[in-house]
Amino acid sequence: MGSLTGRVVVVTGGARGIGHAVVRAALREGAHVAVFDLDEGDGSGLRDTLAQARDRSTLVKVDVTDSAAVAAATGEVADTLGPVDVLVNNAGRNVYGDPVSMTEAEWEQVFDVDLKAAFLCAKHVLPGMMDRQRGAIVNIASLHAKLTCTGMYPYAAAKSGLVGLTRSMALDVARHGIRVNAVSPGYIRTALVDEYFAQHSDPQVEEKALAVQPLGRLGRPEDVAEVVCFLASDAAGYVTGADWAVDGGLGVRFA
Ligand code: NDP
Repeated sequence: MGSLTGRVVVVTGGARGIGHAVVRAALREGAHVAVFDLDEGDGSGLRDTLAQARDRSTLVKVDVTDSAAVAAATGEVADTLGPVDVLVNNAGRNVYGDPVSMTEAEWEQVFDVDLKAAFLCAKHVLPGMMDRQRGAIVNIASLHAKLTCTGMYPYAAAKSGLVGLTRSMALDVARHGIRVNAVSPGYIRTALVDEYFAQHSDPQVEEKALAVQPLGRLGRPEDVAEVVCFLASDAAGYVTGADWAVDGGLGVRFA
């Protein structure tokens, strides 16, 4: 028996990166998994992952910032895999720039994906969880909710909001047997981080990021996925409203 055997797990942004690692780990733990993503991710290997668990996995192409589309996708999952037991709000994006040149549209794009989508997905899965008096939501926040750097203020603001949403929603739904937690990764080697390094003005940024890692390496998507699966499972049955750092110790470093 895996720790998520028979559970229906939705992973947003599950086509690549951390989300894809969560999909793989949840399938290994016996879950039925629905990926909510815009597409299947170029060369991400998602197609192979789903093919290996054809009878208990599905990709639903959906923009998680669109409430009606999320409602329809949730209904589709209920029809094919069953009612949702676990929601992993992982889809995220970033924008880089300064406060003067950044447009309102860019600000809203970040907040729509990194904050509003978590509310929308929760809104549509919670009624079913409340009916069954059980469920778990895991929100992928970021170390940027606590510590940050230049040019990341919309992302830092949205991720701080997501941690606040996690705390308050955890209190709202606790009486229904539903737990809500956040996971805050540090540097995890994915396309998102590659993009950060590539756009940075400092050509040494990657070496510098590595040099401050207490564990001497950047994180892997699997490092985050294991903690997500733990928080989604009954093993974390007394954990709610928490924000778990998966940052290799970077968030406690002073010097
Ligand atoms: P990736 O960019 O590798 O993957 C994000 C996935 O989300 C992509 O498949 C993307 O699709 C999808 N997505 C984006 N917008 C939407 C949308 N509107 N609807 C549905 N799917 C969408 O990111 P990571 O794996 O690196 O990050 C995953 C999460 O972890 C994010 O929330 C991120 O902020 C957070 N995080 C990551 C860290 C890191 O170091 N990597 C550190 C801290 C937090 P598409 O490719 O088509 O855009």
